Amino acid sequence: MALQLYNSKTRQKELFKPITEGHVGIYKCGPTVYSDPHLGHARGPIIMDTLKRWLEHSGYSVRLVENVTDVGHLTDDGDAGEDKLQKRAKLEKLEPMEIAEKYFWAYFDAMAALGVQRPDIIPKASGHIPEQIEMTEELIKLGYAYERDGSVYFDVSAWEDYGELSGRNPNDLVEGTRVEVRSDKDDPRDFALWKRAEPEHIMRWNSPWGEGFPGWHIECSVMSTKYLGDEFDIHGGGLDLIFPHHECEIAQARAAGKDFARYWLHWNMITLGGEKMAKSKNHFVTLEDLFKQFDPLVIRFHLLRSHYRSISDFSEESVQSSAQGLKRLLDTYQEVKRLSSGDAADSDAFAALRQAFGDAMDDDLNTPQAIAVLFDATREINTRLSQKPDGPYLNAATMFYEDYLGKIFGVLAANPETAKGDMLDGLLELLINQRQEARLKRDFKTSDAIRDSLAGLGITLEDTTEGSRWKLN
Ligand SMILES: [Zn+2]
Repeated sequence: MALQLYNSKTRQKELFKPITEGHVGIYKCGPTVYSDPHLGHARGPIIMDTLKRWLEHSGYSVRLVENVTDVGHLTDDGDAGEDKLQKRAKLEKLEPMEIAEKYFWAYFDAMAALGVQRPDIIPKASGHIPEQIEMTEELIKLGYAYERDGSVYFDVSAWEDYGELSGRNPNDLVEGTRVEVRSDKDDPRDFALWKRAEPEHIMRWNSPWGEGFPGWHIECSVMSTKYLGDEFDIHGGGLDLIFPHHECEIAQARAAGKDFARYWLHWNMITLGGEKMAKSKNHFVTLEDLFKQFDPLVIRFHLLRSHYRSISDFSEESVQSSAQGLKRLLDTYQEVKRLSSGDAADSDAFAALRQAFGDAMDDDLNTPQAIAVLFDATREINTRLSQKPDGPYLNAATMFYEDYLGKIFGVLAANPETAKGDMLDGLLELLINQRQEARLKRDFKTSDAIRDSLAGLGITLEDTTEGSRWKLN
């Protein structure tokens, strides 16, 4: 089987054919770097990283570009409000570019912990202002954009294909569009390519239209084509980006005469305990907090257990079950590795399983199916282990795990044991309650002894007004 991918643009699975034989260019919409990375940030990078690993395993050379938005993303996710970085900068009493730097590294450090290999190019929006001005000028020249009082807008009515990606009828879009106070747009559907900077706006650049800053969407049209060519293979992003972000990207680029992406991949969201994550309702979890509870590679494995186009639910229970499953695979891997002797491998022994794994991955990156093949293989290997298999079989089994659990899924170094179970939680709670009781009885000898022995195990207790909290050092 050859790789098939579901293309959001044609709404069907298509045989993947690269523009240039043997090479694949991928663009992924990256984060706006203004706050701590959270669980919602983890899925896309893991999917794109797995796709890249699979393409490379299949013989392609791959260039993966992931942008970082450090200017132009406004608080209303449209053309109104404050720049998200500038708002955060005021809060933390830092320069907006210090905020960008701080959360850039917080994001990429978390991705590294999740086993996500560094993208080949990480362009920043603020580093590509001249190119964004250039595309904006081009769009004005071609009649697809207009200037109003220092801001430049894309003229949706002039671009017939607007709506081609999201499947929305441009005429129906007016109703869904937020009505902005003091908008100078000709049509509420139009979107900003360049915005005039108000006096209080910090991040500003000179342009042919006065001082301002780029709109949120133009950076992706500019940076993807700059590093991957006017036409490139794959564009990835979360489902929530299809409209308006990707619809605007495609309109800008194609109106400027670029063919743009051939395949559009969109991944579904992660729910937390069955509910949509929402920062506004404080229903979300930062990766930093999550990593205290689970090995990041266990989280990676858990996310790969759902197909990227399905919703992936995250709960303590479901991750525990992933950790247990992963432990079964890794235990058998350790056993065959320990017994293998370095003889030649029996290349036929795993041919059918390798075929099944490849078929699953080629079928629109069906990682849950590919993981099922790993469990089938593990059952088979465990049966053989009870029959004292020969060296070539053991070597073939070792290589099977190292190729798929290692090179493709990137979880061979996972430590499923660190997944903190309910039992550990329960034990700690018991100790914390006992210490609390001792303190109430003014028995500080006992309470200090509990605190000190926990500290000896690397667990720090913090006394707060709402009781004691614990954290792993
Ligand atoms: Zn984008």
